[in-house]
Amino acid sequence: MAYVALYRKWRPKGFSELVGQEHVSRTISQAIASGRVGHAYLFSGPRGTGKTSTAKILAKALNCEKGPTAEPCNTCESCRRINDGSSMDVMEIDAASNRGIDEIRELRETVKFAPTMGRYKVYIIDEVHMLTSEAFNALLKTLEEPPPQVVFVLATTELQKVPATIQSRCQRYDFKRISAKDIEARLREVVDASGIAADDEALALVAREADGGLRDALSTLDQCVSLAEERVTEELVREILGLVGRESVLRILRALAEKDAKEVLAAVGDILAEGKDAKQLVTELVAELRAAMVYQAAGQPEGVELYETDEVVLKETASLFPSESFLPMLRALHDALAELRWTTEPRIAVETALLVICRLSSEEIPPAQPTGATMQRDSKDAGEKFRTLSARLEALEKKIASGAVSVSPPTSAGTARQPAARGTAPTRIRTTAGRPGGPVSGAGLSAGQWEKTKEGEELWRRLLDGLGADQEQKAVRACVASGVFGGMTDQCFCIRFTSAFLANRLEKDDYRNILEGYLERLSGRTLRLIVETGEISEPPRKPGAKRKEPAREKTAREVVAALPPEDREAVAQVVEIFGAEAKVLPVATAGENKKEERPSTSEGEGPPITDEDFARLTDEMYIPPEEP
Ligand SMILES: [Zn+2]
Repeated sequence: MAYVALYRKWRPKGFSELVGQEHVSRTISQAIASGRVGHAYLFSGPRGTGKTSTAKILAKALNCEKGPTAEPCNTCESCRRINDGSSMDVMEIDAASNRGIDEIRELRETVKFAPTMGRYKVYIIDEVHMLTSEAFNALLKTLEEPPPQVVFVLATTELQKVPATIQSRCQRYDFKRISAKDIEARLREVVDASGIAADDEALALVAREADGGLRDALSTLDQCVSLAEERVTEELVREILGLVGRESVLRILRALAEKDAKEVLAAVGDILAEGKDAKQLVTELVAELRAAMVYQAAGQPEGVELYETDEVVLKETASLFPSESFLPMLRALHDALAELRWTTEPRIAVETALLVICRLSSEEIPPAQPTGATMQRDSKDAGEKFRTLSARLEALEKKIASGAVSVSPPTSAGTARQPAARGTAPTRIRTTAGRPGGPVSGAGLSAGQWEKTKEGEELWRRLLDGLGADQEQKAVRACVASGVFGGMTDQCFCIRFTSAFLANRLEKDDYRNILEGYLERLSGRTLRLIVETGEISEPPRKPGAKRKEPAREKTAREVVAALPPEDREAVAQVVEIFGAEAKVLPVATAGENKKEERPSTSEGEGPPITDEDFARLTDEMYIPPEEP
């Protein structure tokens, strides 16, 4: 089957094609039809729900040669130029990629000029919450005294980060997660019109896993289509999304109901051996149990989306457990999910949780005594029991830590202020936990188990040589180039970092997608990116050889200056990568002097960085691109 870029091809061209956002399209169409066009709109909502598409439709509606009209023609020059992104009157600014400093400056300069060929100049600022405070202030001034014939459309996935002063000057529209049913219907429309053979179950699964985002659903479908031999089947979707699958989940649930610990462990072993992700397994168990619980209590209520929709399966799973056992089971699994975010031993976390559940159902819960009091007591006891077991597990993991593998602290994009400890005992490894639906087969491999194959080394070289065709790729390359090739397997490509920051940044969907897409083009197969943080090993130093200069904290400016010239253009993106942490994150090399090590506790955090600091810092960091 030929590759079809479905997401671009099926971008909605008019308000009537917007899926699941009728409340938005209706109000805006009416406003245009009655000539009441606002000068600033704020679109908020989850990713992939149609915010930028709506902004473009609005721009076309205002500038269509046959308009202003709620139904732009899509054939006149203005419409065509907006569709292909070449219109001089529609400016798109991506605040996420460079925090908008230059663009907002330019915006301030150009906003007063009249539109080139249309009636309105439309500024679309995507991910507006990422703007620096300086850029926000500049924008605010423009919003306070909007020039005539200018319309701003601000789009954000994180409304709470948009200053109230900005929000209050915009008409706000909240985009909703699109229901799985609506997504499925749209997918069906797309495959039928494109002559793609796809099973209903496959589309339902894609829709369900897209979690309300149509764009994600179309991207998944795209992947499926490019890999499908004849038709898109449920199994293929499951494979591509790395899902564990109903049969395996049911096998575990049945074993849990039978209190058959041996079978539970065997099932987990089989699933992990297939390269499935432990977190994904727990996520699916939770979803299936929730569906069974809801079904047992209320059947299949209207408007409630259940993970499992097959009534025969629901009936079976619901009958496996007494009603009062669902809550303690779900609690144990949720605790396991929390633990999976940081543990380096996902298998232990999953097995412990499931064994706890086995014991719950045999000892803690007397079958069929559903009085409120029992239930409360039971779940409380279960909770306590689980906490005890958790503590024991923790102790066990500490022991493991003294061996080859230690446990890394919880890290997440928001809190990863802690510098990567160097020179402390063993290798610290954190492996990607995976995005929703993201399989991390290969997770659980520890350092050294990754093979540095010739093919891998070659791929790494070609990756660094080739990446950087556009602004987005440049930013990704700047990030990638700070890591080292960690090894590869049939399905995975591992990059290792000393900096938790860069690792976190690369793991985010936008960078990950670009990188995985590029790897696929280079290698001709799907490779999942695995990002690890830990010590990057170097050849051992000869005794008596001159000691390396101890690593010290570099300033953001030095880091940028060290980049190759072609990457400096991407400096603004680098600001984003380093973020407000630029001052406190040591850029270290392996084998640094131990004395220089920063404390790894919270005392290591410097004073909080204010918005002013940040604006200044990002301005300081700006280095104009070199003249050729
Ligand atoms: Zn038109």
